[in-house]
Amino acid sequence: MNQLKILKTVADVQSWHDSSELPVAAVFTMGALHSGHAYLMTYARERSPKGTRVIASIFVNPTQFEKGADLETYPRTLDEDLQLLIEAGVDAVFIPSVEVMYPDGLVVDETIDPGVIGKILEGKSRPGHFLGMLSVVHKLLSITEPNFTYFGEKDFQQLTLVKKMVHDLIMPVEVVGVPTVRDPDGLALSSRNQKLSESARVLAQNIPAALTMVSNLLIDGKQIEQAEKEGRDFLAKQDGIALDYLEVHAENLIDEPKVGTLRILIAAIIDGVRIIDNIAVEI
Ligand code: AMP
Repeated sequence: MNQLKILKTVADVQSWHDSSELPVAAVFTMGALHSGHAYLMTYARERSPKGTRVIASIFVNPTQFEKGADLETYPRTLDEDLQLLIEAGVDAVFIPSVEVMYPDGLVVDETIDPGVIGKILEGKSRPGHFLGMLSVVHKLLSITEPNFTYFGEKDFQQLTLVKKMVHDLIMPVEVVGVPTVRDPDGLALSSRNQKLSESARVLAQNIPAALTMVSNLLIDGKQIEQAEKEGRDFLAKQDGIALDYLEVHAENLIDEPKVGTLRILIAAIIDGVRIIDNIAVEI
């Protein structure tokens, strides 16, 4: 089993980076790691050129949480996280303090504009979320200087926005999307699932069920608006699910959705826990 280097400061990361010429792959997380994260780490190693060193980060980024929202109650399980990273064969983990990431206080980089994609779906319901997310990802990319960075499709809008930022700012890193890891009942793994009660956990299975239902309706030739409506009606019937959105978009989240690859995206609140999920469908 390899040695996991624990890095806490920017200087720690830079000296780790400079200690080898081998390529670097970075996977950024907020901790409370689960098998979905482990898959991301393994995927990063296997999909990158042989010898690539994998660096993970664990940082619960305050600027992407709304005030009074779930920042304080976000699960933190550092000892278990380190064990998972060792088992996944990760080479180093960057665990900065808030002061390391925000030496001038909790200010975001206003020059990074999430643009139109930042205003829909999660961006509409969580104002400021994507500016905070992109600000911290930009910093993490500057600090870790990876050749590759891996992001889960689970957070599809985040993945799309990170790809766009890297493209717009001509950052020398390849952003790679990784398929969503699900429980056998279909529920996408998420750190927030830990906060669900047993009954809410069962109720949450309706989210992937609704995605599959809408996907099948589209494949069967239903109009997008009609498929969206039937999906929303299905979830509205489930007591205890507060649907935020169920929408079908083009894969790039910009164009008018028509034919080709589409994305069905859902956000809902169950038991006070925000659950997001999405799948692709080919029509
Ligand atoms: P988080 O710790 O929730 O910020 O997630 C860190 C990274 O893991 C992000 O790129 C997520 O999209 C990804 N991720 C989270 N859950 C899953 C999952 N179930 N399958 C694949 N990737 C995931």
